[in-house]
Amino acid sequence: LSASRTLWELVARRADLTPDRPVLLQDDRTLTFGELRTRAERVAAGLYDMGVRPGTVVAWQLPTRIETALLSFALARLGAVQSPVIPFYRDREVGFALRESKAEFFAVPGVWRGFDHTEMARRLGAKGIFEAYDDLPDGDPAVLPAPPADGTAVRWIYWTSGTTSDPKGVLHTDRSLIAGGSCLAHALHLTPDDVGSMAFPYAHIAGPDYTVMLLLYGFPAVMFEQFALPDALEGYRRHGVTVAGGSTAFYSMFLTEQRKRPAERIIPSLRLLAGGGAPKPPEVYHAVVRELGVQLTHGYGMTEVPMITMGAPDDTVENLATTEGRPPEGMSVRIVDGEVRLKGEAVCQGYLDPAQTAEAFDEEGYLRTGDLGHLTATGHLVLTGRLKDVIIRKGENISAKEIEDLLAAHPAVGDVAVIGLPDAERGERVCAVVEQPESASELTLDTVTEYLRAQGLSTHKLPEQLEVVDALPRNETLRKVLKYKLRERFGGLAT
Ligand code: ATP
Ligand code: MG
Repeated sequence: LSASRTLWELVARRADLTPDRPVLLQDDRTLTFGELRTRAERVAAGLYDMGVRPGTVVAWQLPTRIETALLSFALARLGAVQSPVIPFYRDREVGFALRESKAEFFAVPGVWRGFDHTEMARRLGAKGIFEAYDDLPDGDPAVLPAPPADGTAVRWIYWTSGTTSDPKGVLHTDRSLIAGGSCLAHALHLTPDDVGSMAFPYAHIAGPDYTVMLLLYGFPAVMFEQFALPDALEGYRRHGVTVAGGSTAFYSMFLTEQRKRPAERIIPSLRLLAGGGAPKPPEVYHAVVRELGVQLTHGYGMTEVPMITMGAPDDTVENLATTEGRPPEGMSVRIVDGEVRLKGEAVCQGYLDPAQTAEAFDEEGYLRTGDLGHLTATGHLVLTGRLKDVIIRKGENISAKEIEDLLAAHPAVGDVAVIGLPDAERGERVCAVVEQPESASELTLDTVTEYLRAQGLSTHKLPEQLEVVDALPRNETLRKVLKYKLRERFGGLAT
């Protein structure tokens, strides 16, 4: 199946193999592989009647629901170009995505979680607005042209999280998404008896990536439209989830919940937590294994390359706790000047903006990830930070992560972000921005530098500015700290 050229070919092959097995479960609803094919075809015909053709750009901002998957596969059936937008995004990000992608149609959920998406779409001057929450376009599949045959045409425009700058439009093909999903399937050693879960937005690149895995193995996943523990536990238990997917923030939610009820296992059927996309401290790995009694494998991915490396569940504890796993077959990882660079089928075609594409690939066609890391003797990848997170003070490179890790252990520091700020004298100066727990005693620049000095940090790395904030600015999907916002906010201050 992994040799399928297009996503639709993959759906069709799977539907032929196991038409009656479930693929998506939500509340008390079930969609089988056979229904995925037949229903998505009807939706495709409805879209065709609306004027969507192969190559038409259709943006959608829809929640994690069976209907969203149907609409997305209908677009894949038509060979349209789809641009998924995260449901919590508002005017700024959505307007940007619609403009940059030149979307001719925009599918919205109507009023969702108290917010009127249709109204926002109108305000933004979106073209071809249609609601696709309960009722999807519908038509007679007889009108449809043949499914696309070429899996290497650009059919997806994804948006990066915008952690380091404005979001970038990332171009993917059916083949790159199938390659990403195949890598994931390969790394996790799942079986047709597993039951997965999607607790992340389906509009995230992990959505199709995960679905490819379901199509390859023929097992189902539970979808959560509004994911919150403890409510979601009912869904996990009811459907007997064995593998739960999410990011680091999600592991912490599980741990918090488990600590409230130490006497029982909160999801008795669960055997594996598999996630990634954000740094995972080794303590979190150990706590999950010990307290939840499940395996944890964590991986490295980015919008440009949905799966780069993933821990194998049968790897050693040391490797699982401290590395991101090994690159799968077909993914070539090199480290150049400390930066992780990648080449392989799962790598995107580039960006919407050709200038960004030209900058992103090196002479040998490797994608510059902007992430810092190294490979161990056994070929495992260790990430050490982001290139843009290196602070250059008086010509010396300083890793923000090194200082963050030390400060995070300080009892009066909740969460912390260390940034470089422009400085006339030093090029950049080191600024620590901290969240303080309510009970903590007051922090000053002096006490902080004293503490870091005692930990053995070199003098040239000591922060020269300290800012205490109520909450660090974070993005909605993976709760990543938005350092550029901190730089905007504190960059103007004189020391
Ligand atoms: P932008 O590119 O717009 O600045 P972004 O890079 O945060 O935003 P994403 O594509 O969502 O947008 O995130 C990918 C990045 O997330 C990676 O480049 C890496 O920095 C980080 N990341 C992903 N997985 C891990 C991981 N396992 N450990 C540490 N960092 C990770
Ligand atoms: Mg990025």
